[in-house]
Amino acid sequence: MTESLIIAFHGAAGSTTGSRHLLTIDQIPILLDCGLYQGRRKDTWEHNTHFGFDPRAIHTTLLSHAHIDHSGNLPTLVKQGFQGPIHCTAATADLCRVMLLDSAFIQEKDAEWLNKRKRKRGEEPIEPIYTIQDATRSLNRFETLDYHHPHHILRDVKVNFYDAGHILGSASIILDIRRDGGEVRFAFSGDIGRAGLPILRDPEIPHHVDWLVMESTYGAREHDDIAHAEAELLDVIQRVAARGGKIIVPSFSVERTQEIVYYLNALTNRRAIPPIPIYVDSPLSVNVTDIFRLHPECYDEEMRRIVLEGDPFGFHRLSYVKDVEESKRLNNINGPCMIISASGMCEGGRILHHLRNSIAEPRNCILFVGYQAEGTLGRKIVERQPTVNIFGEPHPLRAEVVTLNTMSGHADRHDLLNYARVVREHSPNLKQVFLVHGEPAAQRTLAETLRAELGLDVVIPALRDEFRLL
Ligand SMILES: [Zn+2]
Ligand SMILES: [Zn+2]
Repeated sequence: MTESLIIAFHGAAGSTTGSRHLLTIDQIPILLDCGLYQGRRKDTWEHNTHFGFDPRAIHTTLLSHAHIDHSGNLPTLVKQGFQGPIHCTAATADLCRVMLLDSAFIQEKDAEWLNKRKRKRGEEPIEPIYTIQDATRSLNRFETLDYHHPHHILRDVKVNFYDAGHILGSASIILDIRRDGGEVRFAFSGDIGRAGLPILRDPEIPHHVDWLVMESTYGAREHDDIAHAEAELLDVIQRVAARGGKIIVPSFSVERTQEIVYYLNALTNRRAIPPIPIYVDSPLSVNVTDIFRLHPECYDEEMRRIVLEGDPFGFHRLSYVKDVEESKRLNNINGPCMIISASGMCEGGRILHHLRNSIAEPRNCILFVGYQAEGTLGRKIVERQPTVNIFGEPHPLRAEVVTLNTMSGHADRHDLLNYARVVREHSPNLKQVFLVHGEPAAQRTLAETLRAELGLDVVIPALRDEFRLL
């Protein structure tokens, strides 16, 4: 029977990046997520190579979803000696196959670039945080579990995945822990999605919870109604196409790109949008879209019906671009078009070329459809800084900047409050709620609301904070 339970926060504590939480059950450490810390280069090296715990001692890793800020440091974990299983859903495992290799490729390129500069200065070269080989080794540790199929990871501990409704395969991780006199339940929400998102089912909210670790990305903000997403997208396309401009969409390769394509497909079927060419210009997005086609078990009812009528991720006038030369040719297009490319926060990838080409022209539009973290180029554009640096050179920002707040894949303040309310109503033994995965101001606002409106005991852990639960 379990006697001690300790939770320690090793990432996404007071920030939205590098999700890693360590739950130690009778001295046996179980890792929840192993995300890559993304931010300034000198911080990322330290955060991603020093875990603050011994990877060799971890018994099992449980992965909520494939986003790199949750999965992206698994290769380092395995490189540093983790030998246990990594449990996640089948869709998450498939997405990680392309995403971790892509991430490793970026790490290798990054180190190459840095070493070129270091050589010139006569400095010692560095190694990439991890390599493609490390990523491949981590993929061999994946063992998939279906939603709602409890699995014993220890004699007295069962894990169960609930649908988090955030991206394909995303899960909340529910742990039932046997102890004298019954069971206790520890729930980690992972990133929480929203009701009504296309493709996915709505988030499931756990009951009978004793301790809840909950995300808080949008703890201080409300999104516009998801039902307006299609109409707002249509409005932007009509307006920009009419003045002959290009629409550049920095988009996340997973989920957001497929959602935009899903809406564009619906608008095209209704002949609602002007006949402009549309490009998805990102090899990763193309690969990820193929994985979306492979996992109908994650679809909501509407999406299941739509796939019976045709391919929601393909229609004429939509081209997927994998080839680099073809991508470069997009720069020469005259006249209106829409280019959806990665990365979503404009931190790298082909989107940078498109921004460099389009940002100074007032007819063009940069359309944001997702969260822009502090310090990223995307955030600087959203904040309309008059000049932004792209590839180290200043460019005046004259294009129109639009943010579709409807399209977020994260629960907003209202959804988070509702989530906590439902948990509380169905959890007579709820003891504490820990807020993670949020910037400090959003967390404080949400914590105050949860205390005032629901009377909850809310904790905002700092990095490396540890709490004894039993
Ligand atoms: Zn996520
Ligand atoms: Zn996240």
